[in-house]
Amino acid sequence: MRLLPALIVLTLICSPLLAQQTTPAAQPNQVPAQPSSQKPGQLPGPTAVNPAPTVAPETVRFDINLLDKQIDPCTNFYAFTCSKWMAANPIPPDQSTWGRFTELVERNRQILRGILEKASADDPKRDSVEQKIGDYYASCMDENSINTAGIKPLQPELDRIAKLTSKQELTSEIILLHRIGSDALFNFGSQQDFKDANLEIAVADQGGLGLPDRDYYFKTDQKSADIRKAYQQHVETMMELLGDPGEKATEEAKVIMDIETALAKGSLDRTTRRDPLKIYHPMSEKELASLAPSIDWKQYFIGIDMPATKMLNVAVPDFFKAMNGVLKNTSFDDLKTYLRWHLVHTNANVLPDKFVNENFNFYSKTLRGQKELSPRWKRCVQYTDEDLGEALGQKYVDLTFGVEGKQRTLKMVHELEGSLQQDIKTLPWMTEATKQQALVKLHAIANKIGYPDKWRDYSTLKIVRGDALGNSQRANEFEFHRQLNKIGKPVDRGEWEMSPPTVNAYYDPQMNNINFPAGILQPPFFDNNMDDAVNFGGVGAVIGHELTHGFDDQGRQFDAKGNLRDWWTPMDAHEFEKRAQCIVNEYSSFKPVDDVHLNGKLTLGENTADNGGLRIALMALMNGLDGKAAPEINGYTPEQRLFLAWGQIWCENRTDEVARLMAATNPHSPGKFRVNGVVSNMPEFQKAFHCSDNAPMVRHPQCRVW
Ligand SMILES: [Zn+2]
Repeated sequence: MRLLPALIVLTLICSPLLAQQTTPAAQPNQVPAQPSSQKPGQLPGPTAVNPAPTVAPETVRFDINLLDKQIDPCTNFYAFTCSKWMAANPIPPDQSTWGRFTELVERNRQILRGILEKASADDPKRDSVEQKIGDYYASCMDENSINTAGIKPLQPELDRIAKLTSKQELTSEIILLHRIGSDALFNFGSQQDFKDANLEIAVADQGGLGLPDRDYYFKTDQKSADIRKAYQQHVETMMELLGDPGEKATEEAKVIMDIETALAKGSLDRTTRRDPLKIYHPMSEKELASLAPSIDWKQYFIGIDMPATKMLNVAVPDFFKAMNGVLKNTSFDDLKTYLRWHLVHTNANVLPDKFVNENFNFYSKTLRGQKELSPRWKRCVQYTDEDLGEALGQKYVDLTFGVEGKQRTLKMVHELEGSLQQDIKTLPWMTEATKQQALVKLHAIANKIGYPDKWRDYSTLKIVRGDALGNSQRANEFEFHRQLNKIGKPVDRGEWEMSPPTVNAYYDPQMNNINFPAGILQPPFFDNNMDDAVNFGGVGAVIGHELTHGFDDQGRQFDAKGNLRDWWTPMDAHEFEKRAQCIVNEYSSFKPVDDVHLNGKLTLGENTADNGGLRIALMALMNGLDGKAAPEINGYTPEQRLFLAWGQIWCENRTDEVARLMAATNPHSPGKFRVNGVVSNMPEFQKAFHCSDNAPMVRHPQCRVW
């Protein structure tokens, strides 16, 4: 699946798509890979010896026995709620983080595996959805055929690049690479216009890098220098795997590093990109052409089948200047080398084992500290979900999510909206005029629960059994076209950015809606067997988190209709910024690993959402109790149980490598700080656990925005 370049979507946790490198990509016009040697109906590879369980794996629950009574909750609340879990749950060798979230992700993955194994039986009675997901999965699982085919499925494209004769012909190859899912040189897609949320426009954005962030090309510390060295080695090995002799591959890796460094120089960093105005520069096609004349833009737009449009957002104009410099100053042969690299890089996951292993070696082992490649079935489930999410999602929803799940969640959403309204009305620092505007926005937030009303139609996407690489490339092309087809059409407000099995949630400031996939609406987040307090500390705080995103430093810049428009009085904006700065300072002081600090500005939106979310969840719980004292359960009051539930959903272990990677790239703080950073800001927590004024979990000053 392609990532939209400039779209701002605020999630609950780091999207796995952002966390993990390279999803398989696609290429049309290719010779299909050899058909599977498996007999029809027989499952290939490790599944035959290790079949999916017939019953769903054990539910992940809130567990009072996990509390470590040796630790004072007022000293380190996260350790009190999580240290026992952390000690008992080391990171499995095929993971780089392991937490209560990942436990649930793995549980979902087992369910999806069951669906896919059933659908992958080559049975003529399958419906069209089963055919697509089943054949996609079966092709991906067919390791033998993929290994036997070698780089043959990629050969037509490699030949095309080899046969290019001049820089003028490069545009045609960039078109092809973009269609099949690569972001060679730059990114292209569609987005809602920041200034007019009803309008879908084209967007050209920075891209073309192989390291996780532009800063990786420039940071001067030893670790960053080591990573650059390892990356260059990785590129070299991949070029060797394509058949290039060692010395040539060494040279090629240097060339690629130089080109990407020049592209990175023109790119904006992540913190700056959080400001929508910094990535919004509407231009005509002509203006883009004068910024980067080395690309034949007319040919490019025809080549990607872009609908006619008067303007497009050139998100980062300086990037396109830098890219033009690269095209002008780099030799033709070196540019061909760069395109060849991005072709193999994008497709690595659906190539033979040696490519998969080398890709794992750098992106998972070096960058994330993961010890072992995860079993093939796990990766194939993930790719099917990424490429056919709403097809696989239909079957998942049929199996796991009933109507009553939707109704129960909606009821909680309304309770949380009620408490956010109460919170806004009683804020001491906001004037009446801005409060009115804030309430208009709150009341306009649309709620999407579980899964789409209308499933995506994949009928034009051809999935061929035995053609893993082709399937992946055609899926990317399908998605690229789907995005471009939106341009000039009315905005589809029913569309989802996440597939139904996803354990995550998001707020979309341009849609002004909150979205909760079915995957997260289950224990430990939502549990029918638990009391309200536990559910409000779980899914209640998640709902509160998403609602608060509408009013964080980024979300607050958009109005009720999703337009980028300032609805704040200057004085209220100033008061907001003062309070937000307190959060920036607080989280900047946290150190996830060694001497690495969190970036308080990069994580500001998420931290604001965590703080606001838990507060309004607690308000909703109290509103429900209506002044009546609820009985203690297992010796804990409802308030205490809400905090305990919040603490427990964030229990996790991370490798040091992931802690570093996430500090540099992830807008979300690690679990420890999502818990301690929030509760230490709340007088309600101090009261609930009878903490003294000088306890570590009572901050001075306590930050509060919402
Ligand atoms: Zn969030």
